[in-house]
Amino acid sequence: MAATLVTRFAPSPTGRLHLGHAHSALLAWRLARDSGGRFLLRIEDIDTLRCRPDFVDGILEDLAWLGLDWDGPVRRQSEHFPEYRAVLGRLEGLGLLYPCFCTRADIAREIAAIGHAPHGPDGALYPGTCRRLSPADRAARIAAGEPYALRLDMAAALAHAPRPLSCLEHGRRRRCDPARFGDVVLARKDIPASYHLCVTHDDALQGVTLVTRAADLAPATDLHRLLQALLGWRAPRYCHHGLLLGADGKKLSKRDNAPTLRGLREKGLSPEAVRRMASTGGE
Ligand code: GLU
Repeated sequence: MAATLVTRFAPSPTGRLHLGHAHSALLAWRLARDSGGRFLLRIEDIDTLRCRPDFVDGILEDLAWLGLDWDGPVRRQSEHFPEYRAVLGRLEGLGLLYPCFCTRADIAREIAAIGHAPHGPDGALYPGTCRRLSPADRAARIAAGEPYALRLDMAAALAHAPRPLSCLEHGRRRRCDPARFGDVVLARKDIPASYHLCVTHDDALQGVTLVTRAADLAPATDLHRLLQALLGWRAPRYCHHGLLLGADGKKLSKRDNAPTLRGLREKGLSPEAVRRMASTGGE
């Protein structure tokens, strides 16, 4: 018997939902409902500076208005920091993390001094300054209370993980190249976790079998596959869908004031009309 399909919609409450979110949510919801599977809703609110409770309420309200229902309780990542800390502890135990005391300015200076910086999906790769600190220096700076992030030692992680790494994307097996991220941050100075860590942990914990999300997150899958391999988590399948574009041909985004679902509702559009708009294009 085929395993039950489990999909999810995992918005960050940093603004109101727009049509691009509706597209993503509807895709995951339909795939689950059409196959008798489960559709989960997860609020990715670890960035407590940017996320707001009224945006969480807005997400629930907009999805309900669209006619989407979800299975089980809504998971809110901000309530689970101890779980993410435990995962960091496992990676630390494998010797794969190191504290990074650098500020953005320190990193920019170091990159300027080197004269070039390879770029990865999240921007310029970290030049590895703090990886080279001696254990005594590290201990002294921690003891002095200097704030630090935790970075993955990518070379050590790759040596530890089975290779080659691949993912199943749109039914095809694709080679993954997490090295493109360099020594990525897995716990920030201001937030004791990161998107990559929490999303991979939660997808595994919640038994998600198919991750559907916008194509701009496709490169992140390479890193997620590495974390899954290191932590012994089952890999879901992936479906990265096209982005809905605005009239100007640009990706809809909160920042550029894409029309929100609330705005469309207030203009008098029906849920059916908005579902139709959200379903066309992008795919
Ligand atoms: N929370 C992410 C966002 O709102 C999506 C994460 C994911 O689907 O993996 O962009």
